[in-house]
Amino acid sequence: MDSAGTPQGVKHLAQKSLAKIFELGMTPHPRNYAVWYGYFSGQPDLCDAVDAIIAAGQAFDDTHGAELYRTYFSFDDEGAALRETSEHVEAALGQVVSMLSEAGEDTSRYGNALAGISGDLSSGDSIEHVRKIIQRLNEHTQEMVRQNRRFEQEITESNNEITQLRKKLEDTRLEAMTDSLTGLYNRKFFDTAFSQAAREAKKSATPLSVLMLDIDRFKKFNDTYGHNLGDLVLKQVARCLGACVKGRDITARFGGEEFVILLPDTAIENAMIVAEQVRKTVAGKKIVVRSTSKSLGRITLSVGVAQLRPSEDATTLLKRADAAMYFAKNNGRNQIAAEDQTNGPVAATA
Ligand code: GH3
Ligand code: MG
Ligand code: MG
Repeated sequence: MDSAGTPQGVKHLAQKSLAKIFELGMTPHPRNYAVWYGYFSGQPDLCDAVDAIIAAGQAFDDTHGAELYRTYFSFDDEGAALRETSEHVEAALGQVVSMLSEAGEDTSRYGNALAGISGDLSSGDSIEHVRKIIQRLNEHTQEMVRQNRRFEQEITESNNEITQLRKKLEDTRLEAMTDSLTGLYNRKFFDTAFSQAAREAKKSATPLSVLMLDIDRFKKFNDTYGHNLGDLVLKQVARCLGACVKGRDITARFGGEEFVILLPDTAIENAMIVAEQVRKTVAGKKIVVRSTSKSLGRITLSVGVAQLRPSEDATTLLKRADAAMYFAKNNGRNQIAAEDQTNGPVAATA
């Protein structure tokens, strides 16, 4: 608009403002003068407000003048400060309210209280009114802080409970899949893992082999040295098996003195190498009673090896590995045998 800063510009604006006041039939009150002077000097918010009244087709009168003056001129600094404060408080409350409503029903009454307070704020409020509102806000906030502490404590307690429950579940899960004597996987876990591995092997067209291992003449060992020493032997054999496999291989106690080793992504030739390694390791260990240094001789294994065929499932594969193991037994024990893919089990030289 006009060059309001120069004396000539000021004079021009003053004339325009007074002319407008008379044109509209308004009282030449300083309030109205200030409004029109502000309008012609281009005060943005005021211009928008005046234009909106004119655009709405309303007759511009003293009431409009008074209202616009109160909004845009009275208590200039204080009004601006109040507006700003109330905007900040409203924004902060908005955040708290949304946080609280997210936190659940228990907190909704605090949210409501705070939202109520924020609604009480308006730009025309006096400092005293704002002070009272802030006091109320403070009380509600204190209550909210207490409530939040309770929440926090409850959440921490729930968290601890959840952690403990999770640990318990994990322990139970591990217990359910573990053989208590040897610490190896148990039969139940093996059955599931085996079926899954067989499905995956077919899907990915990768070889899957299985070893069936049985301790030779173990009944005799038990009869000679007692069941407790027999248990220690089972543990030691389990440790040997565990040491001979790696990565995705699964070693399990199949039952009694029988073990199984599942070898994913392994063809029968390599499975034979693993089987021989296990046989040799177990046979190479002397069983000695530590307390008395008494030697109890050696323990040997008979091992059957088989590889999954495209047409069969885990159960049939296991039967063939078992048949190979019995072949090894009948062939003299302490040896491994592979089921020949076409002609049935064959002995492998130990
Ligand atoms: P083979 O060479 O033909 O396998 O002879 P074996 O004596 O090992 O076979 P058999 O099936 O006749 O006997 C298995 C024995 O394994 C019977 C039992 O004394 C022993 N056994 C099975 N489970 C356990 C166990 O948990 N602890 C102990 N100490 N011995 C067990
Ligand atoms: Mg047996
Ligand atoms: Mg046996």
